[in-house]
Amino acid sequence: MSVPPVLKIALPVPLYRYFEYLAPVEPAFEVIRVGVRVRVPFGGRTLVGVVAAKSRNTQLPLHKLKTVLEVLDAEPVFDSELQQLLRWTADYYQQPPGEVFSAALPALLRKNRPAASASGMVYQACASHSAVQLLKRAPKQRKAFELILEHPEGLDAENMGASMTRWRPAVQALVNKGLVRRAPYEQVLPKTPHARAQPLTLNPEQQHAYELVRRNLHKFGKYLLAGVTGSGKTEVYLALAREVIDQGRQVLILVPEIGLTPQLVHRIESRLNVPVARMHSSLTSGERVRAWQQARSGKAQIVVGTRSAIFSSFTDLGLIVVDEEHDASFKQQEGLLYSARDLAVYRAKQLSVPVVLGSATPSLESQHNVNLGHYRRIELRQRAKHAEVPQVKLIDLRSRPVVDGLSSELVQAIRTELLLNHQILLFLNRRGYAPVLLCHDCAWTAECPRCNTHMVFYKNQNILKCHHCRKQEQAPAACPQCNSSKILFLGEGTQRIEDRLRKIFPDTSLIRIDRDSTRGKNSLQDKLDDVRKGKYQIIIGTQMLTKGHDFPNVTLVGILNVDHGLLSSDFRATEHLGQLIVQVSGRAGRSLHKGKVLLQTHQPEHPLLNCLLAHGYRKFSEEVLRQRKNFGLPPYSYMLLIRARAHEQDLTHRFLRDIKTSVQQNDSSGLDMYGPIPANLERRAGMYHSLLVVISTSRSAMRKRWTEYIVQHPLAKRVRWAIEVDPFETG
Ligand code: ADP
Ligand code: ZN
Ligand code: ZN
Repeated sequence: MSVPPVLKIALPVPLYRYFEYLAPVEPAFEVIRVGVRVRVPFGGRTLVGVVAAKSRNTQLPLHKLKTVLEVLDAEPVFDSELQQLLRWTADYYQQPPGEVFSAALPALLRKNRPAASASGMVYQACASHSAVQLLKRAPKQRKAFELILEHPEGLDAENMGASMTRWRPAVQALVNKGLVRRAPYEQVLPKTPHARAQPLTLNPEQQHAYELVRRNLHKFGKYLLAGVTGSGKTEVYLALAREVIDQGRQVLILVPEIGLTPQLVHRIESRLNVPVARMHSSLTSGERVRAWQQARSGKAQIVVGTRSAIFSSFTDLGLIVVDEEHDASFKQQEGLLYSARDLAVYRAKQLSVPVVLGSATPSLESQHNVNLGHYRRIELRQRAKHAEVPQVKLIDLRSRPVVDGLSSELVQAIRTELLLNHQILLFLNRRGYAPVLLCHDCAWTAECPRCNTHMVFYKNQNILKCHHCRKQEQAPAACPQCNSSKILFLGEGTQRIEDRLRKIFPDTSLIRIDRDSTRGKNSLQDKLDDVRKGKYQIIIGTQMLTKGHDFPNVTLVGILNVDHGLLSSDFRATEHLGQLIVQVSGRAGRSLHKGKVLLQTHQPEHPLLNCLLAHGYRKFSEEVLRQRKNFGLPPYSYMLLIRARAHEQDLTHRFLRDIKTSVQQNDSSGLDMYGPIPANLERRAGMYHSLLVVISTSRSAMRKRWTEYIVQHPLAKRVRWAIEVDPFETG
């Protein structure tokens, strides 16, 4: 009896397996390629999945198999290497393979459309700017035409809609007049920026770094480019990219968050005269699929993207760069949990190309890999522009007068720099006015009813907001418990600092940059531009300002409070604090003037803090590594978390305890299991969060089928759970 042809398909459902379907009559089984998308019936719906394997046998009874409804592509959407990467990702991170495959596709391709036409139609100008004259009496058409002129690469309907209301009649009129045409996107080339900037001559350290990698471009190599802030790491990436492009190959540059680093993208574009595809979360779905196609077709020689760009297809990828490799944003925190940095290393190995991880503050994992001889460390010790890396000075806050979070010493230093007409950057990682509202008479505090946390007070609007859920309410005029009107605001957020400084320096231009003040689309970018242009003298900001921004005129950086990081229970807290201090400090004195950094703390004797300031980040990281080793924590062991959340606290605990017991009864050799323990913030948005922490020195002991233990449990359907391999935080 002939065995029917079977396709194994990765479907976007939260199940940890592939699904078998009978191949359709058309096209013939032989011509269906692994990696193409198909449409299949699934539980009363139809889903789009990807063919992961073809087979001539099945364990299932034939009558149980359904037939594929349609094969959507002739060419695979993932080549065989990318499929292997995706399978490995699913396996290593214990994620459902179909969800990994699906997450790797641009959203439009997850739907039922052929890849070739998914990118749709775009509008392009077919007349020059002088035609604007003809549109004097039609302002709407004129606006639309100017918009389209600004985008020689073409604008799609989604883009038009985002920039103009009721644009369709105007654009149709332009098409009728022959000024604009509607074309399939494939006929349009990606944008090639004009190379406006000349390459810089590399200094000896940069040259050395460049040569080391360049000599080994044709093989797998892992490099940690550890260069102090402002040492010119980007110049090294650019020089290497130039070399790779000249060989006709492509380059992938992963960056933390494009919105936060517009300058880097701009620098790449203005230096390398080749088509660049950008991939990040604020693209429209049309833009995303086009960027994907440009990378896959080889039309884009450079792809600059955030973490998910690691799953792009390329024709010939020759180099991977991960800028700011220590950054938390490379680790996906929800949904599909993976580390783009670690996948970058895997992918480079697959393709036999170098991967360059760059940072002024390398992650302890990468430093550990250097110590083990797995990565080659290349150092840039000097700043590129004859400026020195600033010294950090501690201000002991204990028993000192501190008003609204500002010590008099810091205020005095600000005053001095203002007189010299320099810029000052003040860093505080807390938004709002005050984190706690307290009744002086009965000690009532404003807590979020849905989370175990205080609600943050916003003075201007007189409201309370929870930063963990969307809860927002009017601030009470009197204590809801005892009716006293003596309500105190405890602690400081950026708005309180802003208020205070406006009082002390009423004639100084001042700007606050945090998530509350940068909601609009280009708002952050505009604010950063204004800062660079010198429009503001004092800049108050949060974490947003730590990443790679170059403000040449900033001479004083004030770090207002780091005590929270010193006291946190998360095992990575000290590492992150050290990185933060070095990165924020790195914003000072980046050009002509010498920089100064003042750090306020209640713990001036903290040994790790002192080690960092006295001996620098490398010594600090070795010290923190030693502590991790003593405690058997990563990178000296592997860690896996099982997270659970539910509306009842008891459920998550019972669920995790049972899983722990059943693993222990079966096979827990080589594993240490802790918990269930409540998460850092146990109650969030009305749900209770708990976790089970698994630690092992053996990767293979760890790689058991955790999901099988989990899905068998009767509570698995009532509790939301997730497995996190190599977690970034244990909170
Ligand atoms: P990093 O990425 O290490 O923080 P950048 O690449 O941003 O450093 O360089 C810091 C500054 O130094 C930038 O303004 C850059 O233009 C300048 N720079 C870098 N390399 C050189 C060089 N070889 N000659 C002159 N200026 C340089
Ligand atoms: Zn009270
Ligand atoms: Zn809340």
